[in-house]
Amino acid sequence: MAARTPDSEPCDNQHAAPPTPAARAIDWQPSHSRVNQVRVRAHTCSCTSPYFELCTAGGRWFVRRFTGGNPTVTTESPWLSARTAQDLWTQILAGQAQ
Ligand SMILES: [Zn+2]
Repeated sequence: MAARTPDSEPCDNQHAAPPTPAARAIDWQPSHSRVNQVRVRAHTCSCTSPYFELCTAGGRWFVRRFTGGNPTVTTESPWLSARTAQDLWTQILAGQAQ
């Protein structure tokens, strides 16, 4: 199935921009579900792959990345301060980090 883009679909949800050539690489790690109480503060639409969630748990912040398919592959960024994680989230949405 061809990848859909926000421009070609009738979807008003938030999507991460395609990464630019200069996008910095995030050190994605396998998701370990270290805590049960994860709160999702923001997310991008799951109609595209990968899609992302900005999460908090125990006062730390991180981004989870979901790669579409069967099964879905879940990875997560290093755990960060709120400010650093929100900067990272902004970069992901702008295609400046992947
Ligand atoms: Zn969408």
